[in-house]
Formats: sequence, structure tokens, C-alpha cells
Amino acid sequence: MFATFASYAILTFAASELMRAGHGIALMWLANGPLLAVLCAVPTRRWPPLLAAAFAGGLSVALALYPLHWGMPCVIASEVAEAAIAAWLLRRWDVDEGLFQRVGTVPLFAGACIVAALASGVPVAAIAAATTNNPFPWILRDWMIGHALGLLILTPTAFVLLRRDEWAALWSPRRAAVAVAMVALVSGTAIITFGQDQLPLLFLPALPVVIATFAMQRVGAALSIGIIAAIGGYLTAHGHGPVMLMQSSAVAHLQFFQIYLAALFATALPIAAMLTQRAALVRDLAESEARYRLLADNVTDIMLTLAPDATIRFASPSVREITSLDPASLVGTPAINLVLEDDRDRIRGIRHDAMNAPGRTVSVEFRVRKPDGTITWFESNFRAVEQSDTDVAVVCVLRDLGGRKSREAELERAASTDALTGLLNRNAFRDRVVEGLRSNDPPGALALIDLDHFKQVNDRHGHAAGDAALLALADLLRSNLRAEDAIGRIGGEEFAILFAGHTPGLAETICDRLREALAHTEIPTGIPGATDVFSITMSIGVVPLAAGAGAEEHFASADAALYRAKAQGRNRTERAQV
Ligand code: GH3
Ligand code: MG
Ligand code: MG
Repeated sequence: MFATFASYAILTFAASELMRAGHGIALMWLANGPLLAVLCAVPTRRWPPLLAAAFAGGLSVALALYPLHWGMPCVIASEVAEAAIAAWLLRRWDVDEGLFQRVGTVPLFAGACIVAALASGVPVAAIAAATTNNPFPWILRDWMIGHALGLLILTPTAFVLLRRDEWAALWSPRRAAVAVAMVALVSGTAIITFGQDQLPLLFLPALPVVIATFAMQRVGAALSIGIIAAIGGYLTAHGHGPVMLMQSSAVAHLQFFQIYLAALFATALPIAAMLTQRAALVRDLAESEARYRLLADNVTDIMLTLAPDATIRFASPSVREITSLDPASLVGTPAINLVLEDDRDRIRGIRHDAMNAPGRTVSVEFRVRKPDGTITWFESNFRAVEQSDTDVAVVCVLRDLGGRKSREAELERAASTDALTGLLNRNAFRDRVVEGLRSNDPPGALALIDLDHFKQVNDRHGHAAGDAALLALADLLRSNLRAEDAIGRIGGEEFAILFAGHTPGLAETICDRLREALAHTEIPTGIPGATDVFSITMSIGVVPLAAGAGAEEHFASADAALYRAKAQGRNRTERAQV
């Protein structure tokens, strides 16, 4: 804050004393460039104290130099407001932080300086025109030249000076040597150009400015313009240099020199911005390339880049591990050859969609025939990348789903079977009944089974023996029924059979046979050391499948028949009608 006060005061003094044009307007207003650079570097909430300090600094100098006048605080307020307006515009346009790092920021910066100088110049010119004899347009013109140029020339220099990281980059001996060489080159050229008044050599300094800009980017541009402003300004102010070849007043000489400096800067700044932008781009690109390479070399997925004609441009090394194909031999071949014939048309369509929507990721699953003849599922994500108007590449990541597909099948099996017996579980069995009712096959029959007095089995022989009995029944059912019959364990000790195509009479006969077989099955109690066996019986309710009724109605009827079997003494089969 004190630094702002002091620098504003000193630069106000310098501009007021050293560079005053005929109307009392400074030829080059030095104080606002550094102030604008500071404002750009801090959050907006810190602006009011900084602007107040600058105002106080400017006012102190004005009070010390001139007699008190009512217009004085207004003029100083306008001067400070100019920096604030420019800073506000740059912040609004969102270019204050990346100023001079992108080429696009340069015209916006120039625009902000001109608008701010105009906005602050109008009230000042009005006041000055009212209190002096000078006409309003002249005052405004001189203000615009002094202030807009002051901002344009000094802000970038101050901006770069304020950025420690820019200077830190100069610390390596090689870079310091480059900096010294550039300073020498620019100073020498400035002395040669402005130390003589015979030849119109003003074009000469442009060369070292551009060289310094290429060598040191923004620092180079700021440093070289600073040197030319100092050497050229001093010599021009003292009546030397090619500007004197112009037959006009000392003020006009200095104003011309400023416009010259601004033009020089306007040449160097965009170059500096472009170089900074390019360096950032190259760095980002190298990083992303390194990341991509790392991924491509290490992932188990396959990465492919396809040329616009759908031939393979790049194949990651993982291709070899996953498909046993040589990545180098794939390059230049049509990518579609990798895909199983049946899936090709679908994949062509999807690649076409991806090409038409660059940047969007499209997912697809397809089959690949490996060199050993096996067919594996792959999942692929495609994305088109527009590299130029004519070159739209497609990047793809392919994942071998062989493992996943078999896991999926495993999961599906687990979700539909009963863990203890391996029979269908309740839901899966019900689905089979629904399916059986829907199909046009000759209708079959549904049988519901409930073990008799099973609680007692558990109580007498233990839960493990109860489980053994459940397994014995499952084995019995499995080994005595056809593959097309569905067998389910639909509750704790409740089972069900869907007889495909059997008449209810035949189903009932089979059930009776099964019932008898179970009753004669000896089930070991499983108690260590004991050779005891036991047997169990079951009650069965059978219902013919009737197309008009739903699964639940069939279950309810079969259940009712089962209930009757229980009521009539158990170890029986009862038939129901839907
Ligand atoms: P009911 O003849 O009337 O059917 O008599 P119940 O004792 O069999 O009666 P219910 O059908 O209600 O019996 C269910 C019993 O089955 C309760 C439980 O102890 C037993 N149970 C259910 N699930 C299992 C299982 O997974 N393992 C074992 N060991 N027992 C089970
Ligand atoms: Mg039961
Ligand atoms: Mg029971």
C-alpha cells in the first residue's frame, strides 16, 4: 500500500515535472501503468485501499508543486479512475490474469487502455477547458496521447516486473548470459539510432526488440522497450536523434516518439504472447503425450488410433498380449478386419456416428476372432478427434470382455439357482412357469412338494441331517426327471416340478413314483461314528397348466391340493383343477 502511495507520488512527480505539454497535460503519464499491473495482480476487494493510496500519493505531489485549486482533486481522481476502469474492463473480459500470455489478450488490453483514457480524459478536459483558455478537443487529444500511451507502454513492463516467476526463470547462468547479451544488443542499437540525427534509423530498433522477444518472450519485450524508452526518450527530450528530422515543436517530437514506442510494442507484444502460448501448449502436449504413452504401454486394454480411412495408425503394445497379433503389422490395415464378420456392419455404423460427433464417446460391444480361432467379446469406446479440417482420427480403447462375459454368465446362474441344492430358486422357477404358460407347447403340469413333518427331522437328527435330506430329494428329482422338466426349490423344504407336456394324469403318476422312491431312500444322519439312517416322505399337489390362468393362480391351486394331501394324512399326491 505504501509502495503504491510512494510509486504513484514519484511517477506523478516525474510525469508532471519532466514531461509536460503546452496545456499542462503530461506528455506521458507514467503512474497508471504500474498501478494497472498491480490491480490486475490482486483480488478486486483489495482495489479500494490501493486506489486510495494512489490518490493520496498523487494529491500530495500536486499540492507540493502547484497552488491549491478545486479542479486538482478532480483531475487526480480521474487519473486514478483511469487505472481502475482499465483494470475493471480486463477483469470483466477475464484476461487480467493471462494478460500477454495469449495473443487474443493483446487487442483487449489495448482496447481497455484506450477506453479508460477516454473515460478519464473527458471530465479532465472539461475542467481544464473551463479553467484555462485551451479548447476541449486539444486537451482531450493530448490527454489521450499521454495517458493511453502511458498505459500501453508501461503496463506490460510493470506486469512482467511484478511477476517473480518470470525473473526466477532468468536465474540459470545460460539465461542470465542471454539476458545480458540482449540488453547489450538493444542498448547498442538504441544508442546508434537515437545518438545521431542524420539518418532516419527509427526502423533499426525493431530488429533487436524482436530478437529479444524471441529469446526471452515477455521479459524480452518489456526489457527492450524499457531500454529504448529510456535511451531514446532521454536523447529525444534533449534534442537528439532521428525524430529531430521532423520540423516541429519539442512537444510534437516527444509525442511522435511515444507513438513510435507504442508501435514498437504493438509489434513485440503479440509475438511475446504467441511464444508464451506456444510454450504452454508444447508443455501441455508433451505432458499429455507422456501420460498417454504411459497408459498405452501399461494398460491391459488395447488402444488404437484410426486414420480417417479407418486403417490403423497406432496400436498399443497390449495388442500382442491380448490378441497375439503384432501391433506393428496391424498398422496400415483396415481396423474392421479385427471384428467378426457378423458384427462388422454394426461397427461401421457406429464409427460413422463417432466421426460425425467429434469429442463424444461412443461405446459398443463386438466379437473378435483371435488368431487361434477363438471368439472373444470386446467392449470399445470410440472418440473422434478433429486434428484438422481434413483429418478426423478416431481413438479407441478396446477391453477384452472374455473374462467379464463368463463372470456375467456365472452371476446369472448364481442369481437363478438355489445355493444348497443347485436347483432353480423360487424366482427362476416362477419365470419358467410363466414361460411355460406363454409358449404354445402342449400344456404340462405343475407339482408343489412339501416335506412331511420336517421340523421333527431337524429336531430329531439335527439341521445338518435335515440339509442332507433336502439334498437327497434334489438328487432324486434330478435323476428321475427329464432335462426339459424344470425342478425348483421354492422354499425351505418346499420343492416344485414343472412337467413339460405331460398330462396331469401322467404327472400325477410320476409324482407318486417319486414319492415312493423318497420314502424308500435311506438318508444317513451324518452324526460322526453313527451309522443311523432315516427316511422322509413328502406330500404333493399337482395342477394341470391351463393357458387361461396366470402363474399365481396355478401356484394357489397346487398349494390348495397340497394342503388337501397334508390334511388327508400326508405322503400323498392330490390333483387340483385351475
Ligand atoms: P408339515 O408336514 O405340516 O409340512 O410339517 P413341517 O414340520 O414340515 O412343517 P413346515 O412345512 O411348516 O416345516 C418347515 C420346516 O422346515 C421348518 C424348518 O425347520 C425346516 N426347514 C426349512 N428350511 C430348511 C433348511 O434349509 N434346512 C433344514 N435342515 N431345515 C429347514
Ligand atoms: Mg413347509
Ligand atoms: Mg413341511
